[in-house]
Amino acid sequence: MTTKDFIAKIPKADLHVHLEGTMEPELIFRLAKRNHIALPYPDLSHLKAAYKFDHLADFLSVYYQGTKVIRSSRDFYDITLAYLQRAATENTLHADIFIDPQAHLDKGITLAMMLDGVLPAVEESRKKYGISTGLILCFLRHRPLEESIQILQSIGPLQAHFAAVGLAAKELGHPPKDFTRLYEMAGKMGLRRTAHAGEEGPADYVRQAVELLRVDRIDHGNSIVEDPGLMQRVKDAQIPLTLCPLSNLHLQVIEDMKAHPADRLLRAGLKVTINSDDPSYFGGYMNANLLAVSEAFDWGQDQIIQVMRNSFDAAYTSPERKVEMHQILTDFINNI
Ligand SMILES: [Zn+2]
Repeated sequence: MTTKDFIAKIPKADLHVHLEGTMEPELIFRLAKRNHIALPYPDLSHLKAAYKFDHLADFLSVYYQGTKVIRSSRDFYDITLAYLQRAATENTLHADIFIDPQAHLDKGITLAMMLDGVLPAVEESRKKYGISTGLILCFLRHRPLEESIQILQSIGPLQAHFAAVGLAAKELGHPPKDFTRLYEMAGKMGLRRTAHAGEEGPADYVRQAVELLRVDRIDHGNSIVEDPGLMQRVKDAQIPLTLCPLSNLHLQVIEDMKAHPADRLLRAGLKVTINSDDPSYFGGYMNANLLAVSEAFDWGQDQIIQVMRNSFDAAYTSPERKVEMHQILTDFINNI
């Protein structure tokens, strides 16, 4: 079996995927039409051409343009189902999905409305495709801290649908330490904690996420390689890193896939996972991401299996589901 076939067939988990980042251009156009929203692109080819970015801020402006077309629970249902259907074709067993309430507040869309669409799609995918999901209540770091705190404070019974809190969007100038109060509150509420850190920010942002936000997972974390002491600490604590190779390449966090820290971190014994981030924007879902790093570092089956085992361990799901996913992987390995 070629590495490409092996990657396509291996049971996998995607732990770092933003719901709106799964919207393919065709879906954006369909929702724009349904909701009578004018897009600044005359047709699909122009929108596809806009999917070329120089850096994170550039990408985010196109990304937020895409989120403007989302107006109803039905839209969230369609987006969630489209992603999970696609993930199922890649033998994805589990997905942890970021849900950003602040991205839709200005349109009058509440978190409850979002979940009215997301939850039925999640349930349908569980039954049809056997995919489990963890939802991450993700805050936007360029928005005011008080807004995040207010959302978390007023979440009420909707908390039951979330496994964790997250922190995303423009990193530089918005260090993790600014969100210490929010994360303290989330911890007291019994929510798990992850945060984007060290994607475009320095290793110190990763340190802040670990020490001040007390995260149990780090999203990206690339710049940890600049700080050997911190690397050792994250290794000792086995805090998983949700790396996103194609995202890093497209946003020019790295110049070349060979410069990605995935291989170095895996060799050093850190709990490395490979994920898709915003797959429709960055040229690929899980298979493409795994293939890109495998080709760059000549990974064989052993490394790919290790990364998947790490993902199952790190997934925001029950211990029973983790055991089940490991067993599915073991059965797969025994049958090849
Ligand atoms: Zn991300």
